[in-house]
Amino acid sequence: MSARETAELLLLVGRLVQADGYDGELSPAQWMALRFFARANSFSQTPSAFAEFQATTRGTASQAIKALEAGGYLVRQRSQADGRSVTLRLTDKGHEAVARDPFEVLVRAVDSLDAHEQAAMRDALHHVLTTVAANGAHPHFGVCQDCAYLGGETNCGSTRANRSALECLLFGVTIEPDDAGLLCVHFQPRSERREDGHRE
Ligand code: SF4
Repeated sequence: MSARETAELLLLVGRLVQADGYDGELSPAQWMALRFFARANSFSQTPSAFAEFQATTRGTASQAIKALEAGGYLVRQRSQADGRSVTLRLTDKGHEAVARDPFEVLVRAVDSLDAHEQAAMRDALHHVLTTVAANGAHPHFGVCQDCAYLGGETNCGSTRANRSALECLLFGVTIEPDDAGLLCVHFQPRSERREDGHRE
């Protein structure tokens, strides 16, 4: 199979899942927003981070966010740190909606592959995503476990000391193991970290 055929298959999978996003209640854009806020870490639950994730304008992103707030899926909170910045969190209704996300059909399809195929697919897609992102102007979202700023070690222990073994070297905060798989707007692929702490 040629590289072009594989790339076209990727596009087709994305379009098929996107088209299945209409369930009569939420639009595909609203599903994307709800999905994003369900998966974003505490540094990334903002309207501007969602706009960057979608590679769209703040105005377009805020339309989907406002519809989700009006529908009772998202709730807006002021930052406890500065009292000004806004974060968006899922309500109980939002969590119930995510549990019946049409995107789950893709999750189940991937889950039908064996462990070796899933690992190979993840590594290959991760490489493709990093390469595509490096050629564009938009930031590459990713998770702590793949980030150049993650320090410490994953530890399966159950004590508080063991659970605090991961650290974000960019913000100097502890990363709870359960949060290491959440999306972050400040993510930096391991190969791209510069000595001055900024993106290439
Ligand atoms: S380690 Fe990386 S992905 Fe995790 S919070 Fe820090 S900057 Fe974000």
